[in-house]
Amino acid sequence: MIIQKFGGTSVANAIAMRAVLSIVRREIPRQPIVVLSACSGATNDLITLVEYAAKGDRAAVQQSIHALRERHVALCTELIPNPERLSKVVESIGVMCTELAVYCEGVALLGECTPRSIAYSSAMGELLSSTIFAAYAQSEGVSAVFADARKFMRTDDTFLGGIVDTFELRVLAEEYVVKPLREGGVIITQGFIGADSLGRTTTLGRGGSDYSAALIGAAVQADEIQIWTDVSGIASTDPRRIASAFTIPFMSFAEARELAYYGAKVLHPETILPAVEQGITVKVLNTFAPDDKGTTILPHNDDTGTGFRGITMKEQCLRLTLAVGPNESASVITQSLRIIEQHGYPLYAMLSSEGNCIMVTNGNDEHLRDLLEVSGVHVQIQPCDMVCVVGPNVRSLSAAQLQSNTALCQAALSRGALSIMFGHSPVGIIIIAAMGEGKEMLAALHDVLHKLTLSL
Ligand code: ASP
Ligand code: MG
Repeated sequence: MIIQKFGGTSVANAIAMRAVLSIVRREIPRQPIVVLSACSGATNDLITLVEYAAKGDRAAVQQSIHALRERHVALCTELIPNPERLSKVVESIGVMCTELAVYCEGVALLGECTPRSIAYSSAMGELLSSTIFAAYAQSEGVSAVFADARKFMRTDDTFLGGIVDTFELRVLAEEYVVKPLREGGVIITQGFIGADSLGRTTTLGRGGSDYSAALIGAAVQADEIQIWTDVSGIASTDPRRIASAFTIPFMSFAEARELAYYGAKVLHPETILPAVEQGITVKVLNTFAPDDKGTTILPHNDDTGTGFRGITMKEQCLRLTLAVGPNESASVITQSLRIIEQHGYPLYAMLSSEGNCIMVTNGNDEHLRDLLEVSGVHVQIQPCDMVCVVGPNVRSLSAAQLQSNTALCQAALSRGALSIMFGHSPVGIIIIAAMGEGKEMLAALHDVLHKLTLSL
């Protein structure tokens, strides 16, 4: 069994859905469970629509539902040539849109937009895209089985971020997913949505489809999870910034997490955690370039790897240098951390020794300085950029890694790095540059990474 999850751009139009079907088709021997997002933009439209309803703007609701229906009808008209099959799907879309309209009338009468109503409305996006895709797959001769995720994705009643009952999910998935799969079906289901024990629709929170895929994968003990999107995996750095950026072929979950924490976008690693905990490999792949290898995220760390995988940056941070007298490091640091925490400043990194302490955060520097000074902490605050370099084994003493680290530090120091933080993480090195100099630092360090990778 494998999970194939397709994001919003992969189901946005007929061309994309055709590409999806051919990707699914070639994996039929591996028993795919297909998890779909809503067509891109649909979830936003559905949330706006129910907000119109709460304000009593019935005309806007009608217009939005009309546009939603038109978009989805046009999509299946392009995909399904057989008039009988087509009219059946168009009818289903009509029923869903009518139900939505009736629901919105209820919301309009109450004049209140509750989390429950938003969950109900936004779930329609995934229900529509998966209904259409299942019908299209069937019309192309694939034995697609539509599975309503609300039958098995059991959550509590937090409507917009339901906590999933993984035990129930495992039991229910056996019946609604594994059984039909064993009978030879290709399962088509929805990401993002679930239901509580009373059957009321819930969602797992915005962007929740990857999380659904990981949860289902963990529940059925899938061999692999494929996250299909519109880029070929996770890049060594932002390709819009650095032309020589390339796809990272393999990385561990810990590295993906480090990259994301310091700014990489493609995937929120926490969403795939349920799969990683079960030792399942996750691949990030491109629907529009299906033969590209993408990025494989391995659940375990690579003890033998060397060099660097990727570089990210957080701009406009603040570097705090605390004035610390003899024997007062611990109390000054404790006091500063308390203020940072109480006032909601993030703590990105910290480096200290007796008599010295540097912290990296961001936000309003004047405000933070006042808060610290009032409580007796003297501080120098310098705006900075923070570059994070991720590698499988940056602390290894192998000759290759030592050479890589030397090249990296030389490049960083020669470009005026303010601090190099090393040793805090087995997979990351943080370099602080003066504000505005991060971009150049990133380019220089990526150059080192690129050369190292080419020389491997
Ligand atoms: N359609 C949902 C959203 O836009 C979930 C997802 O696509 O992951 O938030
Ligand atoms: Mg997404």
